Amino acid sequence: MKIAVLGTGMVGRAVADRLSALGHDVVMGTRDVEQTLARTEPDRRGDVPVAQWQRTHPAVRLASFADAAAYGEVVVNATPGALSLSALEAAGAANLAGKVLLDIAMPLDRSQGMPPTLTVANTGSLAEQIQRTYPAARVVKSLNTMLADTMVDPSRIPGRHNVFVAGEDADAKETVRSLLRGFGWPDEAIIDLGGIRGARGAEMYGALLFAVWAALGTFDFNIAIVRK
Ligand code: NAP
Repeated sequence: MKIAVLGTGMVGRAVADRLSALGHDVVMGTRDVEQTLARTEPDRRGDVPVAQWQRTHPAVRLASFADAAAYGEVVVNATPGALSLSALEAAGAANLAGKVLLDIAMPLDRSQGMPPTLTVANTGSLAEQIQRTYPAARVVKSLNTMLADTMVDPSRIPGRHNVFVAGEDADAKETVRSLLRGFGWPDEAIIDLGGIRGARGAEMYGALLFAVWAALGTFDFNIAIVRK
């Protein structure tokens, strides 16, 4: 499948790499290809510059947000949540129309330091904002509740643990579920939260996520729903 991954950070790279290894035709979207490839410094996390990453991942092509979105049959939003609407504007409404839009972003405001706050909560969510802004896109919220490495390889966390999906379009959710199964998520680990409003809970989990990080000193954990 042709897949556009918008975002060149930790999540974009992890998802693009894994999808490509699984045989998908992957293009990674960035604001400005030339400027991105010209960077020689590590990114804010200390990860290698994109050009260096690309040399070891030659199957993943780099394109502008718009060209990537135009190419993908599925578009993945792996941009900072507070900037996602502007990244998607650059991608272009026409390039998103009719597409499955897998939204992994967390709407975090990091301006006051750690822990971040949410830019939208309770009565709305980023995923709903995206769906409202791009009504012709088929938005599915998923994977935002865990570390990037775990998104694409759940086996690295021991035991049974879960991933959520939320969205209005049943076919789009099935497409995302099949990508999740490809990553190694057992079908029974995927919990469908219903319509796109279900994204509120998945995004508001951010508050607990950062509190657990502060307590444990790591993001290397995931949610396991234990039921009677
Ligand atoms: P990141 O490193 O924070 O973001 C990198 C991307 O953001 C780059 O593609 C960059 O574009 C783009 N960007 C930066 N400023 C921009 C602007 N003003 N307008 C448009 N785009 C801009 O991303 P990440 O850590 O991989 O996370 C991606 C998303 O996943 C976030 O929403 C995050 O909250 C969520 N998430 C992350 C994790 C995790 O494990 N890191 C876990 C769960 C959810 P260029 O390519 O042009 O530089």
